[in-house]
Amino acid sequence: MSIGLGMPGIRPTIDLATRPASPALIDRFGRVATDLRVSLTDRCNLRCTYCMPADGLPWTPTADLLSPDEIARLIGIAVRELGVTSVRFTGGEPLLRADLVEIVARTAALDPRPEIALTTNGIGLEQRAVALRQAGLNRINVSLDALDDEAFTRIARRPLLRRTLAGIDAAAAAGIAPVKINAVLVSDVEVDPVELLQWALARGHELRFIEQMPLDADRSWRRADLVTAGDVRRRLSERYTLVPDSAPREGAPAQRWHVHPLGRADTAPLGAVGIIASVTEPFCGDCRRTRLTAQGTVRACLFSHDEVPLATALRTGADDDQLADLWRAAMWAKPAGHGIDRPGFAPPQRSMSEIGG
Ligand code: SF4
Repeated sequence: MSIGLGMPGIRPTIDLATRPASPALIDRFGRVATDLRVSLTDRCNLRCTYCMPADGLPWTPTADLLSPDEIARLIGIAVRELGVTSVRFTGGEPLLRADLVEIVARTAALDPRPEIALTTNGIGLEQRAVALRQAGLNRINVSLDALDDEAFTRIARRPLLRRTLAGIDAAAAAGIAPVKINAVLVSDVEVDPVELLQWALARGHELRFIEQMPLDADRSWRRADLVTAGDVRRRLSERYTLVPDSAPREGAPAQRWHVHPLGRADTAPLGAVGIIASVTEPFCGDCRRTRLTAQGTVRACLFSHDEVPLATALRTGADDDQLADLWRAAMWAKPAGHGIDRPGFAPPQRSMSEIGG
C-alpha cells in the first residue's frame, strides 16, 4: 500500500466506496492512525504568546466537555475496535481537570491497555505526579520554553517558572520516565537552546524543540519569524556533535539526535535531543495521529478545517459500532498534510489550545 507522503497538490477526491474493508483508522493515503490525542479542556493557566491572547479565550463550559464516562467509552472503542495503541491527554492544560487521575485510571483499566501519556505545562504536577503514576501514566511531556524567570514570564505571561520546574522534578521522582521537555523557541525572546539542552542532559530529561506552528489564536504567526529546526541544529552544533538516531521513526513527530561532546562522535552520547520540524521538514507522510477535542469531535489532522461531532452521536444514542464507523469515516478524509506551504493556506478555525498537541 503506497503512502501519499503528504505531497502538496495530490488531492484525490474522497471516495468512501474505495475504502479498504479495514477496522483500522486508515486514510485515503494509506496511513493508519494508532496514536490518539485527547484534549480534555481548552482552559489554561498560562497565556503563551505563541498560543493564545493575553486575555485568554472564551472557555468551553465544563458541562459541554466530555465527561469521564464518555471519555472512557470513546477511548474504549478506539482501543478495542479501531486499533489505537497509545493515548495522549492534552489540553489547554489537562491538569486543570480535577478528574484527571480518574480518567487516566479508567484508561489504564481498558483491555487492550493503551500506552498512556500526558502533555502538560507542569503547574500543579508537584501535587499530582504520584497519583498519576499510580493511576497508570506511562509517559509525560512538560512544556518549558525558558530557564530564567524573565524570559519564561515574557513567553507565558505568568511568573510560574518555579511551579513548572517543581512539577518536572516531581514527575521524575514519581518514576514517570523519561520526562520529556517540550520547548518552543520564539524569535522575540532570547532563549539559548544550548543552555536548555545542558539543563536537560544534566537531569536525564529528553528535550524536544518544537517549531512554532500557525495555530495561535492571535493569528500573528509569521514564517519569517520562525526559529527553524535548522537554526536550532546550527546553534547546538556550536557546542555539541549531533548524530542522527538511526532507529525507525515509526511516525513520531520528533527527529531524534544523539548528543556527543563537540568533535567526539566516537564517544558515548551524553543523551538525546528531539526536533519537531512541523513547518520546515513536515512528517505528514507517516502521520499516525487521530484527535478528539474536549467537546468530543474527531479531528483527522491538527490542521483540519472540518470535524466529526462524535459526542453528539454518542449523546443521541449511537451504539459503539456506529461511533466506530463515524470515526473511520472522519479519518478516511484526512488531508494529505498541513499545507502550510501551499498558496492560499489558511489556518484552521480552532487554535492550538482548542485542539491540543
Ligand atoms: S499536520 Fe496533520 S497530517 Fe501532518 S503530522 Fe500533523 S496531524 Fe499529521
